[in-house]
Amino acid sequence: MFRKPNQTEKSFGVGLLATLLAFLFWYFLFEYQRQKEESEAYLEAASYGNVLRSEMDRELNSLLFISNGLSSFIKVYRNDLETEKVQSILADLWAQARHVRNLAVAVDYKITYVYPDKSNEKIFGIDYREVASQWPKVKLAIDSRQGVLDGPLELIQGGSGMIYRFPIFVEGKYWGIISTVIDTHAFLDDAFKNNRRNDFAFAIRTAEDKKVFYGDPRLFRQKHVYIQESLIPNGKWQWAIENRKMHNLRDRWFGVLLSLLFSTLVGLFSYFFAKERYYLSEGALMDSLTGLPNRRLLENRLNYVHSEAKRFKRRFGLIALDVDHFKSINDTFGHDVGDEVIKAVAYILESNIRDVDTVSRIGGDEFVIVVKDQHSEESLIKVATKLLSVFKKPMHIHEHEITVHLSIGLTLFDPDSEVALKQLFKQADIALYQAKQRGRNTYSFWR
Ligand code: GH3
Ligand code: MG
Repeated sequence: MFRKPNQTEKSFGVGLLATLLAFLFWYFLFEYQRQKEESEAYLEAASYGNVLRSEMDRELNSLLFISNGLSSFIKVYRNDLETEKVQSILADLWAQARHVRNLAVAVDYKITYVYPDKSNEKIFGIDYREVASQWPKVKLAIDSRQGVLDGPLELIQGGSGMIYRFPIFVEGKYWGIISTVIDTHAFLDDAFKNNRRNDFAFAIRTAEDKKVFYGDPRLFRQKHVYIQESLIPNGKWQWAIENRKMHNLRDRWFGVLLSLLFSTLVGLFSYFFAKERYYLSEGALMDSLTGLPNRRLLENRLNYVHSEAKRFKRRFGLIALDVDHFKSINDTFGHDVGDEVIKAVAYILESNIRDVDTVSRIGGDEFVIVVKDQHSEESLIKVATKLLSVFKKPMHIHEHEITVHLSIGLTLFDPDSEVALKQLFKQADIALYQAKQRGRNTYSFWR
């Protein structure tokens, strides 16, 4: 059956709620901070990525210049192409360009000029259409009439490299193709030599076949890595850039753990605080069913009234009341109705005494009233008679008509006798017992 929670349970509830709220507060605070740091680190990685990309573009543009120059030369001298002349211009361009392994010019599709010719003899005379691994990109360059960057790939002459293909068109017709073979690592190392900061790690792969050709391939599978794409002539590269700060970022669990710790502390504190507060406030001094002062508060007030009476030589009355046959009310109508009866009794008692007096519920169906400034037994008896009379009318509770009677024990404090409080309580109790003995629904005066 539902019952009202007691003070410990209420305080526990307060503690639990405080823990929850504190946890949410701390967790979101930590999470906010963590995400802020994370996005800052991402941003740094992104801007570092942009720098790398522009370095790359600069290096790639230098290839375009070489190819453009060579293409113009060939267009002008195409009818008068002496091997020696071509070789010398190739040598000149080769010397200017960094990281270029060799330059080759194919007339139509056949490699006709190569520089340096040493160690590249193998490719001389090759027809691109017969090299399955290279033909698609050569064809792409011709079809698109644009430069195409292929690779890194295994070279026929041995080793690996990237090849920049640049088609030559004369009067709108395909004439041949320039291939610039680049030493990938030297090229990229050089491109990034100014950016080799230890705060970042990066790797590059081709978007097409996802082959990592620069840096640590594991970066692409790692969490918290910034991925960007960059356009290369007729293709795309993907970059994985890791800000090493990411390693130092606290884990989410760290926030959860710390939040748990803090919120538990807050919860415990709130629990004890709430308990203390309830203890000091209404909760500890009021009867939860009727809202009347409980035994603690009664004793407190009585102490005050008692010492005041002693000091100023005043009398006061103590009335003990108990509902007659309350058990049978419970048994007949049920406990809930019993509770309502107790509340009704409390209400009636309180509305029939003066504001300066105190009614309190000290137990199940037991009440005590302190009546100040009672000069004689008669005046106290008057109060008791009045109370008995107001209970004559039946009460209406949950559609039941219930007549409730009380037995009342009376005692008077006389400042001359200096009776202790404990004794006074006892006297009222004995008088109440006598009233019960006399057949209930009556009062008895202790003498
Ligand atoms: P008597 O005339 O001798 O006082 O008989 P009684 O039946 O009233 O007996 P007594 O005062 O000794 O018993 C009071 C009963 O009140 C005992 C208990 O079952 C019941 N009781 C105690 N607290 C509560 C309460 O909070 N709610 C309800 N409904 N019943 C209570
Ligand atoms: Mg009773």
